[in-house]
Amino acid sequence: MAANSFTRMNIFVTGGAGYIGSICTEALLGAGHAVTVYDDLSEGHRSAVDPRARFVLGRPDEPGNILDAVKEARPDAVMHFAANALVGESMTNPKKYFHNNVANGLKLLDAAVECGVKKFVFSSTCATYGPPDRLPMTEDLPQCPINPYGESKLMFERMLQWYQRIYGLEFVAFRYFNAAGASERFGEHHRIETHLIPNVLRVALDQKPHCEIYGTDYPTPDGTCVRDYIHILDLAQAHMLGLAPGRQGFYNLGNGDGYSVREVVRMCEKVTGKTIPTVEKPRRPGDPPRLVAAAEKAVRELGWQPKHPRLEDIVATAWAWHEKHPNGYPD
Ligand code: UDP
Repeated sequence: MAANSFTRMNIFVTGGAGYIGSICTEALLGAGHAVTVYDDLSEGHRSAVDPRARFVLGRPDEPGNILDAVKEARPDAVMHFAANALVGESMTNPKKYFHNNVANGLKLLDAAVECGVKKFVFSSTCATYGPPDRLPMTEDLPQCPINPYGESKLMFERMLQWYQRIYGLEFVAFRYFNAAGASERFGEHHRIETHLIPNVLRVALDQKPHCEIYGTDYPTPDGTCVRDYIHILDLAQAHMLGLAPGRQGFYNLGNGDGYSVREVVRMCEKVTGKTIPTVEKPRRPGDPPRLVAAAEKAVRELGWQPKHPRLEDIVATAWAWHEKHPNGYPD
């Protein structure tokens, strides 16, 4: 592609009413692409769907529903965000993860092949690696997930590789580290919130008396788990770069900086100016102690340039959104 040329694409976004999907949809539309959002609203919110997008209420368990929706949209590319994504829940309800993330995902993959989709962009995760034997984590590390969430995403990655080899489906799979932050308009609202930053911010909003710390005896400097937090707008940028023809493969998306749970809580105190009481709890099953990305491959091959790498800025954008939307989305 010439430097300034722009190809307007028609993109089918599953999970476009969810946290990451809604903000990627906003970015795609802002860049001039056309978007169909397909979402069953089990986790997402109707009001999180950018009004410039076409919305289809997904019914992935109805035979033919996904295929019909893809046929009607006739997309150039599919971005597949729709999934269940909670490590802890996957340890108690693995069935949900394999049915939705693998079986429903496969219906979408088949529909993409049948409809001649040129590019499939997949939301994968660092949870496909399991506890790494070295940090920061490059894409060639062994993938040995320790929870059904990571396993379900790895199964989908493997299906993608075979579909690429045999059907020629071009794909980019992004292994996200910990997505956080907000755009001006859209943010993170889960009906049952389990993620660290929004939970801490709810304490700052006086909606909870304290935040829980899951595990203080990990082999990390302060005993709490270390994660690599990545701004949602930087994730969105990577997705757009992944759309270019010929771009293909697996990419980590993170900043290369690890922050412990306690450090995140302290940063939230700094940004909000509030004291955040904490209560120490046992470890949450399925959590690896430390996950930190090496994302040089995305920088080198896709030209990805994270614009908001500082944890303080990430938390500040999340806080701005939560202050403006203390009860999240209305639906
Ligand atoms: N965590 C915590 N208290 C919370 C939520 C999360 O201590 O209220 C910990 C969790 O055990 C993990 C880290 O914070 O070590 C990040 O968890 P999150 O659920 O945000 O993302 P994950 O890494 O599971 O994708």
